[in-house]
Amino acid sequence: MNKVRQVAGIMAVTAGLFAVDQATSITSAELDFSSPEAATGTFPGVWIHGSKSAMDNTDPAVQVHAYNEHTFILRENKAINYEGAFMYLLFGNHTALLIDQGSTSSPALFPLRKIVDGVISEWEAKHGQSVELVVANSHLHGDHYAAWNQFVDRPNTIMVGLTHEEVMDYWGFTNYPEQRIEYNLGGRTLIVTGSPGHQGSELSMYDTWTDLLYTGDMFYRGRLYLDDWEAWAASIKRLRQLADEYPVTHLVNNHIEMTNPPKLDYPVGTTWQPDEPPMQMTLSMLDEAVKAIDEVSGPGIYKYDDFLIYNEIPWSYTTDP
Ligand SMILES: [Zn+2]
Repeated sequence: MNKVRQVAGIMAVTAGLFAVDQATSITSAELDFSSPEAATGTFPGVWIHGSKSAMDNTDPAVQVHAYNEHTFILRENKAINYEGAFMYLLFGNHTALLIDQGSTSSPALFPLRKIVDGVISEWEAKHGQSVELVVANSHLHGDHYAAWNQFVDRPNTIMVGLTHEEVMDYWGFTNYPEQRIEYNLGGRTLIVTGSPGHQGSELSMYDTWTDLLYTGDMFYRGRLYLDDWEAWAASIKRLRQLADEYPVTHLVNNHIEMTNPPKLDYPVGTTWQPDEPPMQMTLSMLDEAVKAIDEVSGPGIYKYDDFLIYNEIPWSYTTDP
Protein backbone atom coordinates (compact mmCIF):
# COMPACT_ATOMS: atom_id res chain seq x y z
CA MET A 1 0.00 0.00 0.00
CA ASN A 2 1.53 3.28 -0.95
CA LYS A 3 1.35 6.56 0.88
CA VAL A 4 -1.31 8.11 -1.31
CA ARG A 5 -3.62 5.13 -0.87
CA GLN A 6 -3.24 5.28 2.93
CA VAL A 7 -4.13 8.95 2.96
CA ALA A 8 -7.19 8.35 0.80
CA GLY A 9 -8.23 5.49 3.13
CA ILE A 10 -7.93 7.65 6.22
CA MET A 11 -9.96 10.40 4.60
CA ALA A 12 -12.70 7.98 3.66
CA VAL A 13 -12.92 6.55 7.19
CA THR A 14 -12.76 9.78 9.16
CA ALA A 15 -15.15 11.71 7.01
CA GLY A 16 -17.38 8.79 6.09
CA LEU A 17 -17.31 10.01 2.54
CA PHE A 18 -19.79 7.85 0.75
CA ALA A 19 -22.27 9.60 -1.49
CA VAL A 20 -25.60 8.27 -2.60
CA ASP A 21 -26.86 9.24 -6.01
CA GLN A 22 -30.53 10.00 -5.40
CA ALA A 23 -31.67 9.33 -8.94
CA THR A 24 -30.11 5.90 -9.28
CA SER A 25 -29.56 4.95 -5.63
CA ILE A 26 -26.04 3.93 -6.51
CA THR A 27 -23.64 4.28 -3.61
CA SER A 28 -20.32 5.57 -4.84
CA ALA A 29 -17.18 5.48 -2.75
CA GLU A 30 -14.30 7.88 -3.05
CA LEU A 31 -12.41 7.54 -6.32
CA ASP A 32 -8.96 6.01 -6.05
CA PHE A 33 -6.25 7.85 -7.99
CA SER A 34 -3.34 5.99 -6.42
CA SER A 35 -2.69 3.37 -9.12
CA PRO A 36 1.04 2.76 -9.61
CA GLU A 37 0.51 2.60 -13.39
CA ALA A 38 -0.25 5.79 -15.29
CA ALA A 39 -3.97 6.14 -15.94
CA THR A 40 -4.26 5.85 -19.71
CA GLY A 41 -6.07 8.20 -22.05
CA THR A 42 -6.47 9.06 -25.70
CA PHE A 43 -6.14 12.15 -27.85
CA PRO A 44 -8.40 12.84 -30.83
CA GLY A 45 -6.95 12.02 -34.25
CA VAL A 46 -7.71 15.59 -35.27
CA TRP A 47 -8.91 18.51 -33.21
CA ILE A 48 -11.34 21.06 -34.56
CA HIS A 49 -9.00 23.38 -36.46
CA GLY A 50 -11.10 26.18 -37.97
CA SER A 51 -12.35 26.32 -41.53
CA LYS A 52 -11.60 28.03 -44.82
CA SER A 53 -14.48 30.42 -44.20
CA ALA A 54 -14.99 31.27 -40.54
CA MET A 55 -18.55 32.42 -41.34
CA ASP A 56 -19.48 28.94 -42.51
CA ASN A 57 -17.87 27.09 -39.61
CA THR A 58 -20.17 24.40 -38.20
CA ASP A 59 -17.92 23.11 -35.41
CA PRO A 60 -18.90 23.63 -31.76
CA ALA A 61 -17.52 26.73 -29.99
CA VAL A 62 -15.48 24.39 -27.82
CA GLN A 63 -14.41 20.84 -28.52
CA VAL A 64 -14.64 18.84 -25.30
CA HIS A 65 -12.44 15.78 -25.39
CA ALA A 66 -12.35 13.21 -22.58
CA TYR A 67 -8.72 12.07 -22.38
CA ASN A 68 -10.10 9.70 -19.79
CA GLU A 69 -13.14 9.84 -17.53
CA HIS A 70 -11.59 12.30 -15.06
CA THR A 71 -9.45 14.34 -17.48
CA PHE A 72 -10.95 16.66 -20.10
CA ILE A 73 -9.14 18.70 -22.73
CA LEU A 74 -11.05 21.59 -24.31
CA ARG A 75 -10.19 23.51 -27.45
CA GLU A 76 -11.59 26.85 -28.51
CA ASN A 77 -12.82 26.98 -32.11
CA LYS A 78 -10.29 28.83 -34.29
CA ALA A 79 -13.16 30.42 -36.21
CA ILE A 80 -14.00 32.25 -32.96
CA ASN A 81 -10.41 33.13 -32.11
CA TYR A 82 -7.34 32.18 -34.14
CA GLU A 83 -5.42 31.29 -30.98
CA GLY A 84 -7.32 27.97 -30.83
CA ALA A 85 -6.33 27.75 -27.17
CA PHE A 86 -6.52 24.49 -25.21
CA MET A 87 -7.98 24.40 -21.70
CA TYR A 88 -7.98 21.60 -19.14
CA LEU A 89 -10.58 20.33 -16.69
CA LEU A 90 -9.25 17.81 -14.19
CA PHE A 91 -11.40 16.02 -11.61
CA GLY A 92 -10.49 14.70 -8.18
CA ASN A 93 -12.79 13.77 -5.33
CA HIS A 94 -15.15 16.72 -4.76
CA THR A 95 -12.91 19.15 -6.67
CA ALA A 96 -12.43 20.09 -10.31
CA LEU A 97 -9.61 22.27 -11.61
CA LEU A 98 -10.17 24.41 -14.70
CA ILE A 99 -6.87 25.55 -16.19
CA ASP A 100 -7.43 28.56 -18.48
CA GLN A 101 -10.55 30.17 -19.93
CA GLY A 102 -9.76 30.75 -23.60
CA SER A 103 -9.42 33.83 -25.77
CA THR A 104 -13.00 35.15 -26.05
CA SER A 105 -15.00 36.93 -23.35
CA SER A 106 -18.48 36.94 -24.86
CA PRO A 107 -20.69 34.12 -23.54
CA ALA A 108 -22.80 34.43 -26.70
CA LEU A 109 -19.82 33.67 -28.94
CA PHE A 110 -17.96 31.45 -26.52
CA PRO A 111 -20.21 29.91 -23.83
CA LEU A 112 -17.36 28.37 -21.83
CA ARG A 113 -19.13 28.56 -18.47
CA LYS A 114 -22.16 26.73 -19.83
CA ILE A 115 -19.99 24.05 -21.41
CA VAL A 116 -17.86 23.55 -18.28
CA ASP A 117 -21.01 23.43 -16.10
CA GLY A 118 -22.39 20.75 -18.42
CA VAL A 119 -19.27 18.59 -18.16
CA ILE A 120 -19.26 18.99 -14.37
CA SER A 121 -22.98 18.09 -14.00
CA GLU A 122 -22.52 14.99 -16.09
CA TRP A 123 -19.46 13.96 -14.10
CA GLU A 124 -21.27 14.59 -10.80
CA ALA A 125 -24.24 12.47 -11.86
CA LYS A 126 -22.00 9.66 -13.02
CA HIS A 127 -19.82 9.58 -9.91
CA GLY A 128 -22.35 10.52 -7.25
CA GLN A 129 -20.32 13.49 -5.99
CA SER A 130 -20.69 17.21 -6.05
CA VAL A 131 -17.55 19.19 -6.84
CA GLU A 132 -16.13 22.58 -6.04
CA LEU A 133 -14.59 24.26 -9.09
CA VAL A 134 -11.18 25.93 -8.94
CA VAL A 135 -10.72 28.45 -11.77
CA ALA A 136 -6.97 28.75 -12.36
CA ASN A 137 -4.60 29.89 -15.11
CA SER A 138 -1.42 28.62 -16.71
CA HIS A 139 -0.20 32.19 -17.00
CA LEU A 140 -1.52 35.73 -17.15
CA HIS A 141 -2.04 36.46 -20.83
CA GLY A 142 -5.41 37.51 -22.26
CA ASP A 143 -5.67 34.61 -24.71
CA HIS A 144 -5.95 32.33 -21.66
CA TYR A 145 -8.27 34.19 -19.29
CA ALA A 146 -10.70 35.99 -21.61
CA ALA A 147 -13.76 34.09 -20.29
CA TRP A 148 -12.63 34.23 -16.63
CA ASN A 149 -15.48 36.67 -15.94
CA GLN A 150 -18.07 34.08 -16.91
CA PHE A 151 -17.25 32.23 -13.66
CA VAL A 152 -17.19 35.03 -11.08
CA ASP A 153 -20.82 34.51 -10.01
CA ARG A 154 -20.64 30.71 -10.09
CA PRO A 155 -21.58 29.05 -6.80
CA ASN A 156 -19.16 26.64 -5.12
CA THR A 157 -16.22 28.12 -7.04
CA ILE A 158 -12.76 29.38 -6.10
CA MET A 159 -11.36 32.07 -8.41
CA VAL A 160 -7.58 31.92 -8.07
CA GLY A 161 -7.17 35.42 -9.48
CA LEU A 162 -5.37 37.24 -12.27
CA THR A 163 -2.50 38.93 -10.45
CA HIS A 164 0.92 37.43 -9.77
CA GLU A 165 0.35 37.82 -6.02
CA GLU A 166 -2.99 35.98 -6.06
CA VAL A 167 -1.51 33.14 -8.10
CA MET A 168 1.47 32.75 -5.74
CA ASP A 169 -0.82 32.91 -2.71
CA TYR A 170 -3.29 30.31 -3.93
CA TRP A 171 -0.70 27.70 -4.88
CA GLY A 172 1.40 28.45 -1.81
CA PHE A 173 4.62 29.54 -3.50
CA THR A 174 7.22 31.04 -1.17
CA ASN A 175 10.10 30.39 -3.57
CA TYR A 176 8.83 30.87 -7.13
CA PRO A 177 9.77 29.54 -9.63
CA GLU A 178 12.06 26.81 -8.27
CA GLN A 179 9.66 25.43 -5.68
CA ARG A 180 7.53 22.35 -6.30
CA ILE A 181 4.07 22.40 -4.75
CA GLU A 182 2.18 19.16 -4.11
CA TYR A 183 -1.41 20.08 -4.83
CA ASN A 184 -4.10 17.66 -3.64
CA LEU A 185 -6.96 17.60 -6.10
CA GLY A 186 -9.13 15.30 -3.98
CA GLY A 187 -6.81 12.30 -3.84
CA ARG A 188 -5.16 13.15 -7.18
CA THR A 189 -1.76 14.76 -6.64
CA LEU A 190 -0.47 17.43 -9.00
CA ILE A 191 3.08 18.73 -8.77
CA VAL A 192 3.03 22.41 -9.62
CA THR A 193 6.18 24.36 -10.35
CA GLY A 194 7.13 27.72 -11.78
CA SER A 195 8.01 27.98 -15.49
CA PRO A 196 8.49 31.64 -16.38
CA GLY A 197 10.22 32.85 -19.55
CA HIS A 198 7.18 33.37 -21.78
CA GLN A 199 5.37 35.17 -18.96
CA GLY A 200 6.56 35.85 -15.43
CA SER A 201 3.79 34.03 -13.53
CA GLU A 202 3.59 30.85 -15.60
CA LEU A 203 3.08 27.45 -13.98
CA SER A 204 3.70 23.93 -15.23
CA MET A 205 2.00 20.91 -13.71
CA TYR A 206 2.72 17.21 -13.52
CA ASP A 207 -0.25 14.94 -12.87
CA THR A 208 0.88 11.89 -10.86
CA TRP A 209 -2.27 10.00 -11.91
CA THR A 210 -2.02 10.27 -15.73
CA ASP A 211 1.72 11.11 -15.82
CA LEU A 212 0.88 14.01 -18.14
CA LEU A 213 3.25 16.97 -17.95
CA TYR A 214 1.46 20.23 -18.73
CA THR A 215 3.76 22.97 -20.07
CA GLY A 216 1.29 25.73 -20.98
CA ASP A 217 2.69 28.40 -23.33
CA MET A 218 6.34 27.94 -22.44
CA PHE A 219 6.65 24.76 -24.52
CA TYR A 220 4.27 23.77 -27.32
CA ARG A 221 4.28 23.11 -31.08
CA GLY A 222 4.56 26.67 -32.20
CA ARG A 223 6.29 29.99 -31.77
CA LEU A 224 7.71 30.12 -28.27
CA TYR A 225 7.66 33.85 -27.57
CA LEU A 226 10.26 34.42 -24.89
CA ASP A 227 10.56 37.68 -23.08
CA ASP A 228 13.11 36.41 -20.57
CA TRP A 229 15.59 34.00 -22.11
CA GLU A 230 17.44 33.15 -18.89
CA ALA A 231 14.17 32.40 -17.10
CA TRP A 232 12.96 30.17 -19.95
CA ALA A 233 16.23 28.24 -20.14
CA ALA A 234 16.06 27.60 -16.38
CA SER A 235 12.39 26.56 -16.68
CA ILE A 236 13.16 24.07 -19.46
CA LYS A 237 15.93 22.54 -17.35
CA ARG A 238 13.59 22.40 -14.36
CA LEU A 239 10.99 20.50 -16.40
CA ARG A 240 13.62 18.12 -17.76
CA GLN A 241 14.70 17.47 -14.16
CA LEU A 242 11.10 16.77 -13.16
CA ALA A 243 10.78 14.35 -16.08
CA ASP A 244 13.95 12.58 -14.91
CA GLU A 245 12.36 11.99 -11.54
CA TYR A 246 8.83 11.08 -12.61
CA PRO A 247 7.54 9.02 -15.55
CA VAL A 248 5.97 11.18 -18.27
CA THR A 249 3.50 9.80 -20.83
CA HIS A 250 2.97 12.98 -22.87
CA LEU A 251 3.69 16.69 -22.68
CA VAL A 252 0.50 18.71 -23.12
CA ASN A 253 0.10 22.43 -23.62
CA ASN A 254 -1.92 25.37 -24.95
CA HIS A 255 -1.61 25.90 -28.72
CA ILE A 256 -0.73 24.32 -32.07
CA GLU A 257 0.94 26.69 -34.54
CA MET A 258 3.21 24.28 -36.43
CA THR A 259 2.29 22.38 -39.60
CA ASN A 260 3.06 18.70 -40.12
CA PRO A 261 6.16 19.48 -42.23
CA PRO A 262 9.02 20.20 -39.78
CA LYS A 263 10.19 23.73 -38.94
CA LEU A 264 7.17 25.27 -40.70
CA ASP A 265 4.51 27.24 -38.80
CA TYR A 266 1.15 28.63 -39.87
CA PRO A 267 1.26 32.43 -40.10
CA VAL A 268 0.10 34.40 -37.04
CA GLY A 269 -3.67 34.82 -37.17
CA THR A 270 -4.40 31.66 -39.20
CA THR A 271 -8.00 30.50 -38.68
CA TRP A 272 -7.81 27.27 -40.68
CA GLN A 273 -5.13 24.68 -39.96
CA PRO A 274 -5.94 21.54 -41.97
CA ASP A 275 -2.43 20.11 -41.59
CA GLU A 276 -1.84 20.38 -37.85
CA PRO A 277 0.46 17.98 -35.99
CA PRO A 278 -0.83 16.53 -32.71
CA MET A 279 -0.97 18.83 -29.68
CA GLN A 280 0.81 16.37 -27.38
CA MET A 281 4.58 16.29 -27.43
CA THR A 282 7.34 13.87 -26.45
CA LEU A 283 10.29 13.93 -24.09
CA SER A 284 12.67 13.85 -27.05
CA MET A 285 11.21 17.21 -28.10
CA LEU A 286 11.93 18.51 -24.59
CA ASP A 287 15.49 17.25 -25.05
CA GLU A 288 15.68 19.32 -28.25
CA ALA A 289 14.70 22.35 -26.18
CA VAL A 290 17.44 21.54 -23.65
CA LYS A 291 19.94 21.38 -26.54
CA ALA A 292 18.61 24.68 -27.88
CA ILE A 293 19.69 26.35 -24.65
CA ASP A 294 23.33 26.09 -25.78
CA GLU A 295 22.54 27.06 -29.37
CA VAL A 296 20.51 30.23 -28.94
CA SER A 297 22.65 33.33 -28.68
CA GLY A 298 20.81 36.59 -28.37
CA PRO A 299 17.51 37.83 -29.74
CA GLY A 300 16.24 36.19 -32.94
CA ILE A 301 14.20 33.40 -34.45
CA TYR A 302 15.58 29.89 -34.09
CA LYS A 303 13.87 27.04 -35.96
CA TYR A 304 13.57 23.49 -34.69
CA ASP A 305 11.54 20.62 -36.19
CA ASP A 306 8.69 20.84 -33.68
CA PHE A 307 8.89 24.38 -32.30
CA LEU A 308 10.32 27.80 -33.09
CA ILE A 309 12.06 29.95 -30.54
CA TYR A 310 11.14 33.64 -30.84
CA ASN A 311 13.70 35.04 -28.47
CA GLU A 312 12.91 38.62 -27.46
CA ILE A 313 11.26 39.41 -30.79
CA PRO A 314 9.17 42.59 -30.42
CA TRP A 315 5.48 41.75 -30.41
CA SER A 316 4.82 44.09 -33.35
CA TYR A 317 6.91 41.81 -35.60
CA THR A 318 4.76 38.82 -34.79
CA THR A 319 1.25 40.20 -35.00
CA ASP A 320 -0.79 40.98 -38.08
CA PRO A 321 -1.06 44.73 -38.77
ZN1 LIG B 1 -1.09 31.73 -25.42
